[in-house]
Amino acid sequence: MALFAPRGARREAFIRPQALAFDIDGVVADTMALFLRIAEKKHNVPGLKMEHITSYALEECLPISREVIADIVEELIHGTHDEPLPPVPGAAGVLSEVAEAAAPLLFVTARPKKGPILEWVLKTLDLDEASVDVEATGSFEAKTRVLLDAGKTWFVEDRLETCFLLQDAGISPVVFARPWNRKPHPFCEVASWEELRGLLDLFPGQP
Ligand SMILES: [Mg+2]
Repeated sequence: MALFAPRGARREAFIRPQALAFDIDGVVADTMALFLRIAEKKHNVPGLKMEHITSYALEECLPISREVIADIVEELIHGTHDEPLPPVPGAAGVLSEVAEAAAPLLFVTARPKKGPILEWVLKTLDLDEASVDVEATGSFEAKTRVLLDAGKTWFVEDRLETCFLLQDAGISPVVFARPWNRKPHPFCEVASWEELRGLLDLFPGQP
């Protein structure tokens, strides 16, 4: 399907904001950056960079034990970490524009717990609760059902395996390029929120 021009080429704004929903970790929240910071500060594992995370299976690509990884993931899920969770650059600005065109924004995360990440989304994006809907599915597989029920046909996601699940369910993934998804794939891809914004039909009817 030759729907998408290569990255860098001029593309049309073809995604209706009403049809789009968003993953959180790795797309809106720079969770891996926080992961590395906790690894360094709490577990004394210095010198790791985002580029070292070449897979979602962290124990396969990082020199950190399963126990330490599990400990950090627990902190992330419950929001008990001291260090702040940074947003991905550009996310807040673009999302507030999308919210103006198509509130409420739907975020679908595979996290098992909604409270801490909902609080973070509201605070970080500076949006009121009526403009934001966060669904925590507890599994990657359950994301498609939530999206289909909400009538969403596009989803911004950073985990390639999930993108294939979405495609099988008739939802078009937009891969948010990160070091852990650098494998060939047939999907639309963006490298930044600015680039994603260029795909959004935020002003229908205008040339
Ligand atoms: Mg993610």
